[in-house]
Amino acid sequence: MFRKILIANRGEIAVRILRACRELGIRTAVVFSEADRKSLHVRLADEAYLIGPAASRESYLRIDKIMDVVRRAGCDAIHPGYGFLAENAALPRACVEAGITFIGPSAEAMEALGAKTSGRQLARRADVPTVPGTNDPLEDPQHAQDLARGMGYPVLLKAVAGGGGKGMRLVTSDSEFAAAFREASSEALNAFGDASVYLEKYLDKPRHIEIQILADAHGRVVSLGERECSVQRRHQKVIEEAPSPIMTPELRKRMGDAAVRLARAGGYTNAGTVEFLVDTHYNFYFLEVNTRLQVEHPVTEQVTGLDLVKLQIAIAAGHRLPFAWETITPRGHAMEVRLYAEDPENNFFPSPGKILSQHTPSGPGIRVDEGVYEGWTVPIDYDPLLSKLIAWGNSREETIARLRRGLEEYSITGIKTNSGLFRRILADPDFVRAEIHTKWLDELLRRPHPLAQDGTSGEEAAAVAAAVWQATHNGANLAAPTPGGNTGVSESEWKREGRRQQRERLL
Ligand code: ADP
Repeated sequence: MFRKILIANRGEIAVRILRACRELGIRTAVVFSEADRKSLHVRLADEAYLIGPAASRESYLRIDKIMDVVRRAGCDAIHPGYGFLAENAALPRACVEAGITFIGPSAEAMEALGAKTSGRQLARRADVPTVPGTNDPLEDPQHAQDLARGMGYPVLLKAVAGGGGKGMRLVTSDSEFAAAFREASSEALNAFGDASVYLEKYLDKPRHIEIQILADAHGRVVSLGERECSVQRRHQKVIEEAPSPIMTPELRKRMGDAAVRLARAGGYTNAGTVEFLVDTHYNFYFLEVNTRLQVEHPVTEQVTGLDLVKLQIAIAAGHRLPFAWETITPRGHAMEVRLYAEDPENNFFPSPGKILSQHTPSGPGIRVDEGVYEGWTVPIDYDPLLSKLIAWGNSREETIARLRRGLEEYSITGIKTNSGLFRRILADPDFVRAEIHTKWLDELLRRPHPLAQDGTSGEEAAAVAAAVWQATHNGANLAAPTPGGNTGVSESEWKREGRRQQRERLL
């Protein structure tokens, strides 16, 4: 087993990983930026190393600085968390060169499965159904339009290097195609430095259901079942739950087997997530692979009783997975909300600042994974995720009731949080009946907001607020929010930065 692990991250996920290390008796070293001197992860770690200014390009995204700390601190492994460098193949490569263990897949598996079109190609070969569409980048707009016509509208143009919904355009008719192609390409070029796009058939109101997999270095690959992440704002997850309310043992087995086949085909090791869209006829289609721990991993932990971070560490240390697929059946129900320092009643405006007081919920069936404390100032420089509130119970109803109760107990003063949005969602009859799909929340937010005074929909007001925010924060290092933004914003920033570094390495 490892003696000391470097956690190359911050916030709640750094704290989550620290806790697993402590339970395993492994020492921890963390890195921090100047903005994070007093962060919770710094306070809790055995050792902490300053790696630069607030700007993540100068700190959390600097592989050279992180590898320098690994050497100075005498660590034998690195856990990347999610975001920042977690999906940047240059980090596992640097680890191999330095003789350090990367707690995650190999650089090769990350590249084969992590990129959208290569993931689709591999899925085809592994007999995993993909959303109908093209598997190669499309250069010629006319050729692309002919293909779209052949597929039948609506279609979705997607950036090959995509992430965070950037470079994605819905095309509903032939006459819109040329303009949409230009827009998607230029948005992709701006966001990722790569203009290439491909086509997918646009599925009408699908559900987003993903499979958590674990693969050890001895050839055992298992599925830990699904998470449903259909409650999304503009293609970004907002609430996640396990099991999916529509799941049957038969569908779980088929989706799990497909995910395992794909992981095997890509030579994958460690924890990963295979994302699918599921249509109203329960057909599932591969979307993409996330080659890391997910933000929403706790819901799987609560229904399987497994500690995914400890398993990640054990796999990286060369241990065998101790169970087979058949033995893992979800028990009860779990649901997670992501609490952000933002204000949905003021159009999701970011709300960093000092936490004057805080009361965190507890009691039966409540788990809080947080990266903040009373008296700490939430910096403006990063994704403003404060904490994840996770509830579990014997049934979905009990879980929702506990989550509502937990939100009522939660109090943070000094900054605004988005907890009001969750109260609204958890009280909605469609949500309670689990009649949800990936467009459901956007539709809910287009209805007049109960608190809006001028009849403006939440969505319109949020778009205006985000535009103003971007203009006033021009040049600041904070990942600019999508209108009414939520987590995926910074994930897209991270992906973008990772891809930029990858490109630079290739050139
Ligand atoms: P990104 O990597 O940019 O986040 P994904 O491919 O993961 O993009 O898709 C994010 C979300 O966008 C999905 O969960 C779903 O809501 C929506 N989406 C993506 N592809 C399709 C599609 N072909 N049809 C309908 N919705 C889609």
